[in-house]
Amino acid sequence: MYDIAVVGCGIVGAAAAFALSRYDVSVVVLEKENDVAAGATKANSAVVHAGYDPKPGTLMARLNVRGNQLTWDLCEALDVPHLRCGSLMLAFSDQEVAVLEEYKGRGETNGVPGLEMISRARLRGMEPETSMDAAAALYAPTAGVACPWELTLAMAECAVGNGAELRLETAVTGIDRIPGGYRLLTENGLVEAGRVLNAAGVHSAAVHDMIAAPAFRIVPVRGEYYLLDKSEGSRVSRVVFHCPTSRGKGTLVAPTFHGNLIVGPNVGQPRTPDDTATTAEGLDEVAREARRLVPSIDLRAVIRSFAGIRAAADADDFIIAEAPGAPGFFDLAGIKSPGLTAAPAIAEAAVEMLVRSGLALKQKPRFIGERKRLRFTELTPREKADLVRSEPAFGRVVCRCETVTEGEIMAALDAPIPPRSVDGVKRRTGAGMGRCQGGFCGPRVTELLSEAMGVPAWRIPQDLRGSYQLIRRNG
Ligand SMILES: Cc1cc2nc3c(=O)[nH]c(=O)nc-3n(C[C@H](O)[C@H](O)[C@H](O)COP(=O)(O)OP(=O)(O)OC[C@H]3O[C@@H](n4cnc5c(N)ncnc54)[C@H](O)[C@@H]3O)c2cc1C
Repeated sequence: MYDIAVVGCGIVGAAAAFALSRYDVSVVVLEKENDVAAGATKANSAVVHAGYDPKPGTLMARLNVRGNQLTWDLCEALDVPHLRCGSLMLAFSDQEVAVLEEYKGRGETNGVPGLEMISRARLRGMEPETSMDAAAALYAPTAGVACPWELTLAMAECAVGNGAELRLETAVTGIDRIPGGYRLLTENGLVEAGRVLNAAGVHSAAVHDMIAAPAFRIVPVRGEYYLLDKSEGSRVSRVVFHCPTSRGKGTLVAPTFHGNLIVGPNVGQPRTPDDTATTAEGLDEVAREARRLVPSIDLRAVIRSFAGIRAAADADDFIIAEAPGAPGFFDLAGIKSPGLTAAPAIAEAAVEMLVRSGLALKQKPRFIGERKRLRFTELTPREKADLVRSEPAFGRVVCRCETVTEGEIMAALDAPIPPRSVDGVKRRTGAGMGRCQGGFCGPRVTELLSEAMGVPAWRIPQDLRGSYQLIRRNG
């Protein structure tokens, strides 16, 4: 029997496993998909929010502000791409200026440092491409962007290095009480654990209902995006938001850590909790709203559109609590935005709950809390030459758009959590992330995956389980 089972390996499950792997307890992470960060963590705005948005006194407010600090520290320690660029929330009318003032007050109550109201003239100085119609802005210097899937992968890899077990393609389908804990039914057999953390994202209510009386509902809300080519990457240098409305934080235009520009999201109703299809109407709305913020934006430079699903709870706050009637079963649910930012703080809160429930935690003598990734493009010419001499695979460029070498892909395939799909390689190495979106390197990446996994190429998915890109010819 494990001490703790974590259901779901999005950023919240990975952060919890990483935090627990510091202690002398056995941890198993059960993830239904073929990779970590397969749910909301994969498709979002990637903003490390400052923390002025959540209502004071909520869990969201406290964990957002604490999570902001922790996220920046983790990005440094785990070598995760990030930009501490700050954010600007724009107002287009006197009423919206009053909203900015209200958010500034909220932020100060929440403990957000450095918030400032910015005049139209100063805004134009800071971000010359923003709309002339903007009357003022709220500047939050502690906000920025960070790569959500690389942070998740880094935390999961360290957790595995510290002894946690990760089981991919292992959906939890039922839960029973047993003496001393829980028995989880999975598609790959039974798993027993003394305590359970439910970090199943948009499916967290379904997982909760497997063992406890229904206590909350998750309302899936879709957000659609355009990702623009690097030619648009310097249109803004900070995260530029609309004023929030009752429908959410509003559309943003932001630089990415890879040098692209992201615009979105809107607010839409998916048909199912996993319905990440984009729609023409949704993308039109995103385009309209983005042009209101930054009129000069060239949306012809789009290289990809995508959608993510927010796991909003009917309670309108994070649900971080022991499930009533199920001692030792803890929900980390309703983790909508600012969930990425708050994840490391949610993990701290989860550890505190486990301790309060009687779990004894003793620090391990050795803990891996740092990681470094080799990025060929970041090396000096001398370092590149030395590396190619010692390992010729680094001399073969597979992804021409992003200059990703075969050596980097082989290193990812050799890592503690190797990719099982073409997009898994993309998230780990950047191959396929550029202008051609894998049109050129996709076949070679598929071949390398096929060799490493020992399965035919037609068994290699593009991304999630079953998303095959090739069809086997009969005979
Ligand atoms: C459009 C959009 C924009 C956002 N923008 C931001 C932002 O800018 N900043 C910010 O801080 N936050 C943002 N968020 C919120 C953030 O993305 C989420 O809060 C965060 O990713 C939630 O992480 P999670 O681990 O709880 O859920 P997920 O990432 O969804 O992970 C849950 C995991 O559980 C797995 N799972 C589900 N059911 C089972 C089962 N039965 N058995 C095993 N595994 C299971 C899933 O496969 C999945 O991998 C945004 C979200 C969206 C959708």
